[in-house]
Amino acid sequence: HRAREYNVEEEGKKGGKRKGTGVKYDDVAGIDHIKADVKEVLDILLGDERYVAMGAHPVRGVLLEGPPGTGKTLLAKAMAGEAGIPFYSANGAEFVEMFQGVAAARIRSLFRTARKKAPAIIFIDEIDAIGKARSSGPTDSGTQEREQGLLQLLTEMDGFYQDDKVLVVAATNRADALDEALLRPGRFDRTIYMGRPSPANRLKILQVHARNKPLDRSNDDALLRQIADLAIGYSGAELANLMNEAAILAVRRSQPEIDLPILKEAMDKIRLGLPQDSLPDSAAKRQYATIEAARAVAFALTPGMPQLEHEFGREGGTWHALATPEGATNAVQLDKPLSQLEVACGLLTPLYVARACEEVLYGRESVSLSTSKEVSRAGELARWIVMDSGLHPATRDEVVRLNLRPGGKRDPTVKWAWKNYDDLIMDLQRRAYEAALRLVAERATVIRTVGNELCDNKDETVLGSRVIDLLLNTPKNEAAAAAATAVAERAES
Ligand code: ADP
Repeated sequence: HRAREYNVEEEGKKGGKRKGTGVKYDDVAGIDHIKADVKEVLDILLGDERYVAMGAHPVRGVLLEGPPGTGKTLLAKAMAGEAGIPFYSANGAEFVEMFQGVAAARIRSLFRTARKKAPAIIFIDEIDAIGKARSSGPTDSGTQEREQGLLQLLTEMDGFYQDDKVLVVAATNRADALDEALLRPGRFDRTIYMGRPSPANRLKILQVHARNKPLDRSNDDALLRQIADLAIGYSGAELANLMNEAAILAVRRSQPEIDLPILKEAMDKIRLGLPQDSLPDSAAKRQYATIEAARAVAFALTPGMPQLEHEFGREGGTWHALATPEGATNAVQLDKPLSQLEVACGLLTPLYVARACEEVLYGRESVSLSTSKEVSRAGELARWIVMDSGLHPATRDEVVRLNLRPGGKRDPTVKWAWKNYDDLIMDLQRRAYEAALRLVAERATVIRTVGNELCDNKDETVLGSRVIDLLLNTPKNEAAAAAATAVAERAES
């Protein structure tokens, strides 16, 4: 079973030259600030004379830290691809569920192979699975297995000789949870932070993934720029997925090019994780329609959200509420400016509304998988808001300081106050979920009306203007809202 032990990405010799993974730096967009770093590490590894002359030791390990889908794997592959060297990858999690001694043996054999084929890159994804800080309490066999794996990894990295040209690249989304031994000199002594992309970098990533797609370019990159601005909090992987969904939709609609409406529809599909199939059962169908109505109502009521557009309904088996960035008036009249925390909450609340609608209108037992995607996306977004975006008042200064550091890297020697972050993230999620519960209870009448109209209207469509009209002309149910919040509080305690 050797072959299954790890994945070897090594393309056959072409023209006498190994191609490595075939991935290039150009495929990883928005990493200009770390390219020089990465190049340097590889130059030293490959024996660049200048470093040898200076007596510089090669870097043994590079830790890529960042949330899922931010291009860590892609960057590791690009390093191998640019250098034209083989790439061996393993996942930390697979080492954990092994029998006694197997994890250590596997790691040993992974390193042996890489040494033989050196220069080479070993990539260990999810290194936290084996690299978690060692426990001091009593341990079960799974923990022991993990710790043996970790010790073996440390041994292998310490056992590198000066001229062993093997670089270990590891990825994690929680560097704070790693055993400190891993971060000592000679092990993973460089940490590169890969965050969610800024709007400018979102554009660059979209451009990479638009390279091979027919796009409406009548206005240069204006189309992608609009999408980059709308795709707040998207990771690189989500942006790639967006372009792919758009391509699929364009084919479905027999359109020769990907244009703005197609991209927005793809965004809604991704953001809302909408159910795909049309439903014969009318009770279930009405429930879906009502949940969709709640999403539309939340959009209309959240300040700063794009305005509800007229195309709102079901098409090709998919419920959808399209939104447009022009004019953000919607149904809200603000009597005072929003606090920063309210703005942060406002980004999350619409994602919780579908789940809140299930809970408030159909009872706790009815919560379904179809709304889980939004809930988990909200969790991720909350993490990003607190830790990376500078949108949260409690961490804004820290995040700004972090981003002013050269390369925007976290200093591995500084212990970040993770516990504190976790509390803030939880608190933000709780506030946003409560706001969603309140919103649904307060506006239940409108939500049910729109849901019924969605089902009963001939074309299964309700105009955005109709939703806003209803909202402006139906009194809020304050009592129900108070009750819903009280229930949430009771459930919590
Ligand atoms: P991670 O390892 O951080 O979880 P991956 O590297 O596996 O993320 O990213 C998944 C996919 O998302 C990539 O294969 C690529 O298509 C896309 N992607 C992520 N980040 C970028 C980026 N910076 N530039 C271009 N594509 C990206």
